Amino acid sequence: MAEVSKRIDELRQELRKHEYHYYVLDDPLVSDAEYDRLIRELRQLEEEYPELITPDSPTHRVGGQAAQKFNSVIHRRPLLSLDNAFSLAELQEFNRRVNRVIAAVSYMAELKIDGVSIVLVYQDGVLINAATRGDGLVGEDVTNNIKTIRSIPLRLRDNISRMEVRGEIYMPKQEFLRLNQEKEEKGEKVFANPRNAAAGSIRQLDPAITASRALAAFIYDIIYIEDRDINDQQEALDFLKQQGFPVNPEARYCDNIEAVYAYSQEYQERRHDLPYEIDGVVVKLNPFAEREKLGQTAKSPRWAIAYKFPAEEKETRLLAVEINVGRTGIIAPTAILEPVSLAGTTVSRASLHNFDLLREKDIRAGDMVLVHKAGDIIPEIIKPIAELREGCEQEIKPPGNCPACGSQVIRFEGEVAYRCENINCPARLKESLIFFASRPAMDIDGLGPAVIDQLVEKKLVEKVDDLYYLSEDDIAGLDRMGAKSAANLIQAIVDSKARPLYRLLTALGIRHIGSKTARILTAHIHDIDKFSEVREEQLMSIPEIGPRMAESIVKFFHEPSNQETISRLKAAGVNTVEAESTGGLKQLAGKTFVLTGTLESLTRNEAGEKIEALGGKTSSSVSKKTDYVVAGSEPGSKYDKALQLGVTILTEEEFLKMLE
Ligand code: NAD
Repeated sequence: MAEVSKRIDELRQELRKHEYHYYVLDDPLVSDAEYDRLIRELRQLEEEYPELITPDSPTHRVGGQAAQKFNSVIHRRPLLSLDNAFSLAELQEFNRRVNRVIAAVSYMAELKIDGVSIVLVYQDGVLINAATRGDGLVGEDVTNNIKTIRSIPLRLRDNISRMEVRGEIYMPKQEFLRLNQEKEEKGEKVFANPRNAAAGSIRQLDPAITASRALAAFIYDIIYIEDRDINDQQEALDFLKQQGFPVNPEARYCDNIEAVYAYSQEYQERRHDLPYEIDGVVVKLNPFAEREKLGQTAKSPRWAIAYKFPAEEKETRLLAVEINVGRTGIIAPTAILEPVSLAGTTVSRASLHNFDLLREKDIRAGDMVLVHKAGDIIPEIIKPIAELREGCEQEIKPPGNCPACGSQVIRFEGEVAYRCENINCPARLKESLIFFASRPAMDIDGLGPAVIDQLVEKKLVEKVDDLYYLSEDDIAGLDRMGAKSAANLIQAIVDSKARPLYRLLTALGIRHIGSKTARILTAHIHDIDKFSEVREEQLMSIPEIGPRMAESIVKFFHEPSNQETISRLKAAGVNTVEAESTGGLKQLAGKTFVLTGTLESLTRNEAGEKIEALGGKTSSSVSKKTDYVVAGSEPGSKYDKALQLGVTILTEEEFLKMLE
């Protein structure tokens, strides 16, 4: 007995930890199947030893808890979870329980969408509130985020005085794949599954983040409605459809449990062809009047059950670990697996995400491993099967040097990713060039991804600085490039040499150094050569420059290949100093301007403000001390005075260029 009590305690602690990571942090530590195994073990022990049941046991709780960062919403009725069945026998057992109370049963079978439960409240036909399930009683107010999901109607078709519905917000498989790839490229932690990704996207304080992720929804329940009689689930789904809600088209009426089972079998096979992840089938008693006879427990209704598909996991051997450099320089391990058929495809590779994860899970080359597909789409190793080790398995360590170029591998404080910081690394080169030539950087017109692709493929450019050594002939030889466009591109490259220093600094694509930071830096450090000598503390003494930026600068300029590129850029005549009249934060510092005539794109006042913002001064009369006279259309006598005194006269266009 003491043994059992100890095990129950252990399980509860373990489950609470997993629930916190899953529901609150949207970042589970174990797979759902693993969690389900633990909760089943606990449930079985509690059934055998009912005296050990406590009301706060994870078997008695619904979901997680509402996070403090959102306003709380008290649900009209508790939002329950569902009981689970894992086999036909358990499904039949559920049917028998229902049958004991109700003679003629009919069910609606629906797909169990793996997403986040949500409640939507409509007042006079208008969406006024959206909340998560939270702990079932109190949820989080996520109205603004939910409004960004296009398939959710903001207004119902009919003017219903009050209606509350429940549904599931989900992330389609393709979006999950895209989002995780994007996160991996940025060296961020990936989401474990689409459900956590959807939850993480909805529980954002900034609705713009939610909006940037293609979330979708299916609504499946009417919790409350005024002035309408709806008698069963089938009618409810039809009505929801009529009101403009997205309703899952696969739901099916079943007049006995065998039909439900056939439906489950069918979708267990078809699940991989669906664009969203499902983890089972939800079986609901169809007539509402009959549901009331069955009632509910504290956790779930007695008239419904979730039939869960078996987890798709397979064992296979991890043959080797390939180390790849991504296009942004992130160095990541990929597992090469003995091919295994899994969730509808043959899997022979799996992302290992990062080296920390490998260490945490203690995955070794040569291990037998358990694999699954995250979100039914991304092959992943769940864990090694340590019992099967033979002793020859090898630990996998991050490389000291980049496998593509040999540069020293770098890891920034607080980040999981290892990186190659060599701007010229062959794995990164195309991306480096695209960024180098982009608008906020060197702004080289005509040098887009298609041209860059060819320049790199044909080995005309092997390092970023090679751009400045290209000839017209080199470029004219590229596909779809006539002599004229070649000449234009060369001219654009030549023009870019004169860009202010902050643009060059931006163009180098140094981590954490965007155009704004580059301006701040070049206002203090006027020569690119100085950057290779500067120490982190010196950089951090500049207002707004934090430790991460400082570390990044120092690491970038220490890389020999980067230093060489800078020398060659300089040798090619690219501007590497902060000329007084260009660039920098206060590029017009100490300069006096006089404005005359009418400017087209801005008022004189606005022009004056811009000059001052960049450190310059305006004056109303021209003297020898005036640096520039900006002449709009129909200039006055100030123009003549400027001519007389030999003061530089700028056209509006020239003036605007100076402000860039
Ligand atoms: P559940 O996911 O088993 O089932 C209930 C939910 O199904 C409802 O809340 C609803 O959101 C959803 N649903 C989807 N389609 C539906 C439909 N057509 N009709 C009705 N409901 C539908 O229960 P739960 O309490 O939300 O969560 C338990 C799940 O979370 C388990 O799968 C468990 O493995 C997982 N979990 C995992 C961890 C972990 O650490 N990996 C931790 C906690 C929970």
